[in-house]
Amino acid sequence: MAKQEDVFKKVVSHAKEYGFIFPSSEIYDGLSAIYDYGQNGAELKNNIKQYWWKAMVQLNENIVGIDSAIFMHPTIWKASGHVDAFNDPLIDNKDSKKRFRADVLVEDYCAKIEDKENKEIEKAAKRFGDAFDKAQFEATNPKILEYREKRATILSRLAKSLEKEDLADVKALIEELEIADPDTGSKNWTEVRQFNLMFGTKLGASADSATDLYLRPETAQGIFVNYLNVQKTSRHKLPFGIAQIGKAFRNEIVARQFIFRMREFEQMEMQYFVPPGTELEFYENWKKTRLNWHLALGLGAENYRFHDHEKLAHYANAAADIEFNFPFGFKELEGIHSRTDFDLSAHEKFSGRKIQYFDPERNENYVPYVVETSVGLDRLFLAIFSNSLKDEVLEDGSERTVLSLPPALAPVKAAILPLVKKDGLPAFADKIFNDLKFDFNVIFEEKDSIGKRYRRQDAIGTPFCITVDHDSLNDNTVTLRYRDTMEQERVPVSELRRIIDEKVNFRTLLSKI
Ligand code: ATP
Repeated sequence: MAKQEDVFKKVVSHAKEYGFIFPSSEIYDGLSAIYDYGQNGAELKNNIKQYWWKAMVQLNENIVGIDSAIFMHPTIWKASGHVDAFNDPLIDNKDSKKRFRADVLVEDYCAKIEDKENKEIEKAAKRFGDAFDKAQFEATNPKILEYREKRATILSRLAKSLEKEDLADVKALIEELEIADPDTGSKNWTEVRQFNLMFGTKLGASADSATDLYLRPETAQGIFVNYLNVQKTSRHKLPFGIAQIGKAFRNEIVARQFIFRMREFEQMEMQYFVPPGTELEFYENWKKTRLNWHLALGLGAENYRFHDHEKLAHYANAAADIEFNFPFGFKELEGIHSRTDFDLSAHEKFSGRKIQYFDPERNENYVPYVVETSVGLDRLFLAIFSNSLKDEVLEDGSERTVLSLPPALAPVKAAILPLVKKDGLPAFADKIFNDLKFDFNVIFEEKDSIGKRYRRQDAIGTPFCITVDHDSLNDNTVTLRYRDTMEQERVPVSELRRIIDEKVNFRTLLSKI
């Protein structure tokens, strides 16, 4: 089995074993692409939300946060284009009966070419050693140039065909490239069809009076339809932003990558309203700001890259993804889109209400333009979780699994551990617990050997273990163990709050952005 697959399997099983993520409805054999967050997962997820909310809302005096309802007037989805255009091209394999996204099959084919390029580069780097000039190699090596041109040609044809809704050509492309079902090798494909990703439901008690509704496929529309309310009541001038965290629902065609692609997921979106003509400047700024926000987590700059869109969504005049190096390769983590005035203008038209801003400097009314940043909370969870999970071989040859989460995001900040369950140690430890619990999420554990308890805390990413021993009773000191270095030091009980706070507070993280 490929190494990447091993890593991913380990991520999934660790998430379950340590109470982070469970398959939903597991005692009924689960529900496809739906997951539940367990006791540690819920804490980690809440901390990620806080990091985003604080950075967006608290640190920017011109961004406010809202919480709009999941159910919305059905005309909203007509106006936004989701009823007509929120489709993915679907293709079935006639032999395996498996369903695929036709565009993803082609993109995966191109990703394989890219892997070949990277292998060529690695080989050359080894061959030339210190003298290797990567940029020059990439610009001149005939094999690399050929691979790149091939990729560009394929992707541009795919983009054009999708844009023109020429699904027959997407099928032709799949056939020309001889793309096979990755599991069975079969090339026996159906036609490509469009599939709408919105879930429908009904509002109202009796069948004939019930209204057809959709579960929202994105949180953004909740922001657009509240633009007037928020602008009036917050009295912000342009540019200003509205942020929101909430659930979104998409009936994804293929959802096989754990919490990367789910049918019920959470988004953290911010719409920044700007004067027309300034949007591309703000778009570039938000690209930088959002990347810095990710980099501050310390997961390694080499694990992020931008991907500028060739095929723009119907509402955008510029768009890029921040991609992350997941255990299954680089994939979209966050989207940054310049959405023009598409949404607000459409809502003006469909609602009949004027959605305009009077600009005192320009002395004119206009529909604001919008730059959006949209990150999937669950994808971010997966990025942070998988990147932090490490198997280490220690100096004495033993092994440990450690989840080196950014300390501010760790579900539990400190574990308070009486060395033995007698001689007054639990009572002493309990006092520490009852003091620290007002400031941090801490736990008290007295079962098992101290070594086992340390390992369990390492596995859930607890930055500190506080061990109470017999000396503690006499000199009011405890042993503080650091998760990452496993170093231990003796510290006075009175110092604990300060030491923990320095490491885990959000200020440390936020000031790096
Ligand atoms: P993809 O191309 O992967 O389907 P998208 O471009 O449709 O994603 P957007 O509509 O831009 O995604 O949504 C913004 C963010 O929401 C994405 O960057 C991603 O992090 C998250 N997201 C979208 N769909 C899902 C999903 N099915 N499960 C989990 N997160 C998702």
